[in-house]
Amino acid sequence: MDIGSDDRQFQTQWYRVSSRLKAEIGETAFENWVKPIKACDVKNAEVRLAVPSRFMRDWVVANYLDRLKELWAGENDAVRSVEVLIQPTMKTKSDDEAASQTAGLEGDALAAPAGSNDAKAGMNSADQSGWESGGQIAAPLDNRFRFDQFVVGKPNEFAYAAARRVAEAQSVPFNPLFLYGGVGLGKTHLMNAIAWEILERDPSRTVMYLSAEKFMYRFVRALREQNTVDFKEQFRSVDVLMIDDVQFIGGRDATQEEFFHTFNALVDQGRQIILSADKSPSDLEGVEERLKSRLNCGLVADIHATTYELRLAILETKAEKMELEAPRQVLEFLAHKITSNVRELEGALNRVAAHTQLVGREMTLETTQEVLHDLLRANDRRVTIEEIQKRVAEHFNIRISDMHSARRARSVARPRQVAMYLAKQLTSRSLPEIGRKFGGRDHTTVMHAVKKVDELRDHDTTFAEDVELLRRMLEG
Ligand code: ADP
Ligand code: MG
Repeated sequence: MDIGSDDRQFQTQWYRVSSRLKAEIGETAFENWVKPIKACDVKNAEVRLAVPSRFMRDWVVANYLDRLKELWAGENDAVRSVEVLIQPTMKTKSDDEAASQTAGLEGDALAAPAGSNDAKAGMNSADQSGWESGGQIAAPLDNRFRFDQFVVGKPNEFAYAAARRVAEAQSVPFNPLFLYGGVGLGKTHLMNAIAWEILERDPSRTVMYLSAEKFMYRFVRALREQNTVDFKEQFRSVDVLMIDDVQFIGGRDATQEEFFHTFNALVDQGRQIILSADKSPSDLEGVEERLKSRLNCGLVADIHATTYELRLAILETKAEKMELEAPRQVLEFLAHKITSNVRELEGALNRVAAHTQLVGREMTLETTQEVLHDLLRANDRRVTIEEIQKRVAEHFNIRISDMHSARRARSVARPRQVAMYLAKQLTSRSLPEIGRKFGGRDHTTVMHAVKKVDELRDHDTTFAEDVELLRRMLEG
């Protein structure tokens, strides 16, 4: 037999072995752990397999090695052992494919400059040139910020509905629309989406979008150049005026005054005004009462802090758009850990995606935690492993000392596994660190616990609820 047909035979055996393993461990585990394995060769009764990272090797050895040996011996009784090697340069996809995905990622999500490839800027007036002679006032719209890219959930459904209403209305439904909420929760996104929608429905309408800072800056410059008449005219000729982050207007009396007059003039002419801020009109600091009450006259819609469900939905949408093969476990982990705002959440996903794609590694919980190490420490809600052990012990009615003990009875072993699982999910400790805190156990024991709990969660709803409850309690 020549080497070629030897190899074919070997690959056929591997195909049969891996297919049988797949039937035993399920699709997800297979995709994550077995599919990336490359079967290299068989020499001196030893099969050699390769995986791209140490972590994967540890996992495969801890979880599947014995079974792989048995299955392989079943296919070829000359095989006595199976060795798993680390081959760091190994690519799980073809190089071309990986390269094009990386390029797509960069072009799409990582570095897309605001409003790139956009002919339409934030100001679409026919006399745009006239505007530009005085320097560009309007900010360009961001092409990514459209309604269909906005994930709706409880915290933002009202703001979203209000935004849609304004964008689709023939006349002015409420004036102004005042969107407010914390940083990174989607105010700018919604404003851009409104602008796009209005322009798509009726390109002849003049929409002007700009930040309050820019508004102020332009105004101050106009004052200096004694050109305020032009300045006013520019604003007063638009159909829809959007000013983002108006909290920055607070305290600047002259600008506020001008803003107030512009505002009134536009409202009187039936033009739509849309504003955003990080606070409600009543809470804006350094803003005159008469302006506050004017702002309160329209519709005030707030965007609340994100919930876990919304964060997860956003991650799923983004991952799909980026054509990322992100395991659910990773998305759930990110949704649990990055709670500050959507911008940070997106940033975290982008970082993990860029990293895993560039170095050709699998996106796993472990790589995610590695890549986001600094961010996770900062976001850590200081849930300690001790706290987890205490809560879990209380919940299952066992002694805390059993978290460290060598007892293997299921009544204590299972809660211990749950505690390890939660330690992995809720803290940024590494597997060996967690192992040490559980009576000096090995990191493979922790890995096994994580996997076991994941499996049980899938099959046992009561158990899944227990774990979820504990998690919520610990997250406070
Ligand atoms: P804000 O203006 O409130 O500070 P942004 O509108 O700039 O926040 O949003 C920050 C990032 O988060 C943007 O990239 C935006 O697309 C994204 N984002 C926020 N909310 C959502 C959402 N509900 N669905 C999808 N993306 C969102
Ligand atoms: Mg913004």
